[in-house]
Amino acid sequence: MSDTINFIIDGVEIQGREGQTILEAAEAAGIYIPRLCHLKGLTPHGSCRVCTVLVNGRPQASCTQPVAEGIVVESESERVQQIRRDIIDMLFVEGNHFCMFCEKSGNCELQAMAYRFGIPTPKFPYQFPKRGVDASHPDIFVDHNRCILCGRCVRASRDLDGKHVFDFVDRGPHKRVAVNAEARLADTNLDASDKATEVCPVGAILRKRVGYAVPVGKRLYDEKPIGSDIEAAKTK
Ligand code: SF4
Repeated sequence: MSDTINFIIDGVEIQGREGQTILEAAEAAGIYIPRLCHLKGLTPHGSCRVCTVLVNGRPQASCTQPVAEGIVVESESERVQQIRRDIIDMLFVEGNHFCMFCEKSGNCELQAMAYRFGIPTPKFPYQFPKRGVDASHPDIFVDHNRCILCGRCVRASRDLDGKHVFDFVDRGPHKRVAVNAEARLADTNLDASDKATEVCPVGAILRKRVGYAVPVGKRLYDEKPIGSDIEAAKTK
């Protein structure tokens, strides 16, 4: 029996495989679905909702929703784009993101997503939360002001590094990333070579002493829009 699953994205017939998510099947077909918490190699989390699509008219996170025979998926419709724009907007205002002073600028997926969606400035009011910075570790710096709670560091530390350096604590507006030590990152077993130090989509977890090795203006998303690598594969 074939494990091919036929479904439709934005009017295009796609073949997925049993066990694939909509996001994975779309990507294999050269269709980029925007995402922030999702990263290849990490367990899907479905938390940021930037990858929202409409499946038979209902909003679903495409990074966790499996493909199914005959489903009709909307990813590029104006309604879906507006949902994503609003989510990105909210991520900006609920943290403290000052791109011009952030050493992740040009490599930041949140910033790149705002450019992709044409968001020059958020439409929601800024929250300006009071959050801390942990610079105690000799090699790694954590700035909670920029954290978007994507959970990549939590999953990478747990599943790839076999540690448990990061995890979420508290709930709702108080939810935040904490470390497995009494107070400071320096008291954990985090190593600079850990995968958890590489996966942050924003400038919340940064390596020290490498910040401006590549000048602003010559960085990943300064050169190419986010998602263009996947879309380029479609046109080949
Ligand atoms: S510190 Fe970075 S990787 Fe970890 S949850 Fe926050 S944004 Fe995501």
